[in-house]
Amino acid sequence: MTEQQSVIVIGGGHNGLVCASYLARAGRKVLVLESAAQPGGAAVTREFAPGYSVSAVAHLLHLLDPGVERELGLARHGLAYAKTGLRTVALSPDNPPLILNDGEIEGGEVSAADRLGLRAHTARMRKFARVIARQHGRIPPRLDFKSWSDALPAAAVALDIRLLGRRDMREFLRVATMNIFDVLEEQFENPLLKGALALDGVLGTRLGPRSGNSVYAALYRQSGSVNGRPGALALPRGGMGAVTTALSAAARGVGAELRVGARVDEIIVSNGRATGVRLQSGEVLSADMVVSNADPKTTLLGLLGARHLEAEFARSVHHVRATGTAAKLHLALSAVPRFRGLTADQHGERLVIAPDLEYIERAFNPAKYGEYSPHPVMEITLPTLHDVSLAPPGRHVLSAVIQYAPHDLKGGWAEGKQRFQALVMDLLEQYAPGIGALVQHSELLTPADIEQQFGIAGGHWHHGELALDQFMMLRPVAGAAQYATPVAGLYLCGAGCHPGGGVMGSAGRNAARVILGGR
Ligand SMILES: Cc1cc2nc3c(=O)[nH]c(=O)nc-3n(C[C@H](O)[C@H](O)[C@H](O)COP(=O)(O)OP(=O)(O)OC[C@H]3O[C@@H](n4cnc5c(N)ncnc54)[C@H](O)[C@@H]3O)c2cc1C
Repeated sequence: MTEQQSVIVIGGGHNGLVCASYLARAGRKVLVLESAAQPGGAAVTREFAPGYSVSAVAHLLHLLDPGVERELGLARHGLAYAKTGLRTVALSPDNPPLILNDGEIEGGEVSAADRLGLRAHTARMRKFARVIARQHGRIPPRLDFKSWSDALPAAAVALDIRLLGRRDMREFLRVATMNIFDVLEEQFENPLLKGALALDGVLGTRLGPRSGNSVYAALYRQSGSVNGRPGALALPRGGMGAVTTALSAAARGVGAELRVGARVDEIIVSNGRATGVRLQSGEVLSADMVVSNADPKTTLLGLLGARHLEAEFARSVHHVRATGTAAKLHLALSAVPRFRGLTADQHGERLVIAPDLEYIERAFNPAKYGEYSPHPVMEITLPTLHDVSLAPPGRHVLSAVIQYAPHDLKGGWAEGKQRFQALVMDLLEQYAPGIGALVQHSELLTPADIEQQFGIAGGHWHHGELALDQFMMLRPVAGAAQYATPVAGLYLCGAGCHPGGGVMGSAGRNAARVILGGR
């Protein structure tokens, strides 16, 4: 009998769990080592105040790979949705809100041209997003073709673009290199509408609407689907932790072993090959291969060490842009807050504060200089309106992504955090008068907190900026973009790899395919 090949997966984030499942299903002996007390990484549900739980980092599910969901039987392992198809409510400080639903606008004072324009824009962006989505499940092409089969993935990308048809292909190539500010200015009049649409091009990135790559980021954000509905947003029942609880059950179900509270301090290399890991406890574990779900900088410069890498490669990893700007606010509330202009049933949607393009750009400007926005943008959810399991009866939870809060804040977050939280609460008070009086407990996670608590260098949403110079065969860097690293037996499987971040599972699945010898 041949001995079973053993694999250590560093990190039980959702991608690590996905990778572990596929490897274990294929007969590998898999051990997942997770440093936190629970698996899930940035997709977990945590109690942040007695009786109040929240999706601690990621809070909306919209990118989960349907293949992963089906093949790993996540529904069978308990994944269910509290709500799918959330609408986006664009809040204004002085006008009625706009409600965006699948390319249609409800309410608000919007011209007929903008209403028609949004339908066309949504259809076009969805079509373009499908091109991006098709790449998610593929191993990025190599830049150094060694055989014709190496050239096929690149040809497939070109074909996907060509199949858009001549007019759309031209438009795709035109807008892909533009910024979202200019694209929206070309098409719409209503400032609130433009603000809400632009938010998708900057959320989770260190970009403003006038930055290059913001169209790509907007397309990436729309490249998912929930229950077959493209661009849909969902709240898993029990929070995002429900996804990784189901993934953990799936991994265990096929024989993978999961150890929590097991922090890896070092990847051990013998004769140029990764042969195991050393835990913080001092324990040494050996395996035929090591796969890391940790971000590329942590893995390659921290756990492995630049001494095992060529200088040029190590330098390129060092220069991966991965400075997070998204903070997370959690409020435990004694009642549902009342946002101005919203009916009771509209509070359960995705509420956004991004009232116009200039506002977002101005919110971004300070981040370039290591300062937080005096008037931030926000993506707000009240998950307890759909899922009572997250708070005591009659009580509620608010979960919001706040930008921009740069990881490298001038003066440090120990100084700045309280002031930032106070200004965020002041802003919320303008939109939901009286909200402050409902707050029982609060938690603000800055990118520095996310780095420290979730082990993501820079606290970046995508483990590395989402940008055309850091995508596909350049993600995280050339030489490690096909999940294998220059060190034999060492692979990457997290959000820092193609296709990028978001609770998706594609990086974990693709990495497993490469390890198992597929393309
Ligand atoms: C503020 C914010 C809001 C977000 N909101 C959304 C959202 O609404 N929807 C969405 O889809 N995405 C969202 N994201 C992005 C999403 O959370 C991440 O892209 C995704 O969770 C990354 O998954 P992963 O499995 O690749 O990595 P991670 O979730 O980061 O998992 C990596 C794992 O490795 C472990 N690890 C690291 N180092 C070690 C070590 N040395 N030893 C052992 N274990 C280690 C970590 O503890 C962690 O469990 C958000 C991100 C941020 C920062």
